Amino acid sequence: MDEKLLKPYDPKETEDKIYKLWEESGFFNPDVCVKKGITKPDAETFTLIMPPTNANGSLHAGHGLVMAIEDIMVRYKRMQGFKTLWLPGLDHAGFETQIVYEKQLEKEGRTRFEIESKKLYKEILDFTLKNSKNIKSQIKKMGASCDWSREKFTLDDNIVKTVYQTFKRMYDDNLIYRGNRIVSWCSKHQTSFSDLEIKDEERIDSLYYLKYGPFVIATSRPETKFGDKYVVMHPDDKRYKDYTHGQKIELEWINGPTTATIIKDNSIDMEFGTGVMTITPWHDATDFEIAERHKLDKEQIIDEFGKLLPIAGEFTGQHIKKARTLIIEKLQKKGLIEKIDENYKHVIRTCYKCGTTIEPQIKNQWFVKMKPLAEQALEKINNKKIEYIPEHYQKITVHWLENIIDWNISRQIVWGIPIPAKICNKCENGMVDIENIISKCEKCGGDVRTDSDTFDTWFSSGQWPFATLGYPDNNDFKTFYPTNVMETAGEIIFFWVSRMIMLGLYITGEIPFKTVYLHGLVLDAKGQKMSKSKGNVIDPLILTEKFGTDAFRIGMIIGNTPGTSLALSEDKIRGYKNFANKIWNATRFVLENTKNFTPPETPNYDEEDKKSDEELKLLIKEITKEMDEYKFYIVAEKLYHYFWHTFADVIIERSKVKILKNQNADSAKILLNTQLTTLLKLLHPFIPFVTEEIWSIIKKDTKEKNDLLMVAKWPA
Ligand SMILES: [Zn+2]
Ligand SMILES: [Zn+2]
Repeated sequence: MDEKLLKPYDPKETEDKIYKLWEESGFFNPDVCVKKGITKPDAETFTLIMPPTNANGSLHAGHGLVMAIEDIMVRYKRMQGFKTLWLPGLDHAGFETQIVYEKQLEKEGRTRFEIESKKLYKEILDFTLKNSKNIKSQIKKMGASCDWSREKFTLDDNIVKTVYQTFKRMYDDNLIYRGNRIVSWCSKHQTSFSDLEIKDEERIDSLYYLKYGPFVIATSRPETKFGDKYVVMHPDDKRYKDYTHGQKIELEWINGPTTATIIKDNSIDMEFGTGVMTITPWHDATDFEIAERHKLDKEQIIDEFGKLLPIAGEFTGQHIKKARTLIIEKLQKKGLIEKIDENYKHVIRTCYKCGTTIEPQIKNQWFVKMKPLAEQALEKINNKKIEYIPEHYQKITVHWLENIIDWNISRQIVWGIPIPAKICNKCENGMVDIENIISKCEKCGGDVRTDSDTFDTWFSSGQWPFATLGYPDNNDFKTFYPTNVMETAGEIIFFWVSRMIMLGLYITGEIPFKTVYLHGLVLDAKGQKMSKSKGNVIDPLILTEKFGTDAFRIGMIIGNTPGTSLALSEDKIRGYKNFANKIWNATRFVLENTKNFTPPETPNYDEEDKKSDEELKLLIKEITKEMDEYKFYIVAEKLYHYFWHTFADVIIERSKVKILKNQNADSAKILLNTQLTTLLKLLHPFIPFVTEEIWSIIKKDTKEKNDLLMVAKWPA
């Protein structure tokens, strides 16, 4: 009897040691498994690319869930004999990391706007590298059996090279253009965003009905109206049939007399307000489109910091937040207000990070033409070439792709992959220049400057599956692409998953993964979203420290159906610590009672033991099918119950009597041995540490000669 078994199971003493054993075995690397004869050279591959973890903080509960689910997938496939690759990675996470770093700067009384960009980049890089080490050790703590020899970082030279080549190819294929388009701008963060970094917020504001010459226009943003000189109406609107397109009218406006031009446009909603509106093309996407259609002037009214420009006359330099009341006062004095509706419910677009109201601005930036990319993706998705778990994500993906708009990939932040382009100082022409050789404008011959923007971080992570595998020439790309599963949070279905499908298809001609598995949010015990300000954040590392990683993992899995959120509580995890102990104690009993017993080649069971043996075989069949269907939550629960209520409560109890009375004792001993070793294998993907530790103890006493449980054969 191993001394260790006489004491309760101690995860703290065990886990690091076991992880080291796994790492040293080299079995996380599929090539080593082949070399050592564990996996057949021609075995089918199973590839899972780990969502690159943001290298800007600590592992949170959501990461814990990712590691648990993905490690279950790969351990299962590895035991089944697949050439299994789980490729880990870290993400520089552009804007997200810069925000974390800015908060740190704030505490030190500094701001990013005062730091020279090269210096700031270096500071954030150091910060990220320091965090990377931390994050990696935390991923290991979770038991992740990923191949560290293939680890990638989004800023690795070869990843950046791939990203640049993609950018160039898309530019050459006319899928990337530089244009003066309206973008979503955060005046606090001083950067533009894509349409996904925006949070819609319902608000009640005032709707002002303003007299604009003979018309009445409704607006909730009078502060943008200074430059309004086009009045737009539907060509079919009978009320305004006497006005003609292009007609000019003189009228009195906020800061004095102005000339307005009548524009007739089909996009106007005749039912809204009076059916007439003025437009502010610089600060409104719909107005911008109208202006583009009719080639109208566009004037900037509000600057990048949310302050009014000289066009606002006496209000110049005021922040729009403060200016609104004053402008209304003035309009009232001039008798230009018809009425005010104080209960106007509408949706405001805000920065997803800081809540600042998004100010649309026209900016010269790089855009990806999304329609052609989306069409390719839709074809595959509609033909079920990609399986979505849960299924409803397919529908929402299709809807998003069908309504996709061009993607602004320029960010005005230093932390990211620099956009390899030159901009003409004279005509603002943008030229893609991945070799850094352009020194004169190709259009006008003017001097050029290097684009100071960086890529949206999702532009690089959107290329993750083929970039990490070394597209196009690397052997890994040939062997492991397309990958099998993309497992990630449902929250980033558009941000990341859909863009990976589009970019993967475009670059490689193949879908990047066959299955998309999406997990839900991890909430606190009361089902509330965790947040630092609420103080309800559950740290996975504290839970693993207290109860062991196995308890944490199986606690995260049981009851967690894909796509739905999970309420995590300490009590739940504590409960599963007892399970590890139950297995530990059961092992002790089996070893005590089968000492010096050599089971025969073919088992000779008595009737009831034979039935139990068949019952387990049936269970294996069932759960193997469920594992293939990604129903880990069911498998974990079934194994838990079988071990506890059948193996421990019934079989062990029954065998005790048989062995004690020496009636059919051999049958009992064979059954105990077989059931224990089989259950350890089945449980291993879920609770790898305690099962591996027990394996190392019992392998001396059983016929199982495999060195490590992690590469034992999955029971058939
Ligand atoms: Zn912001
Ligand atoms: Zn030029």
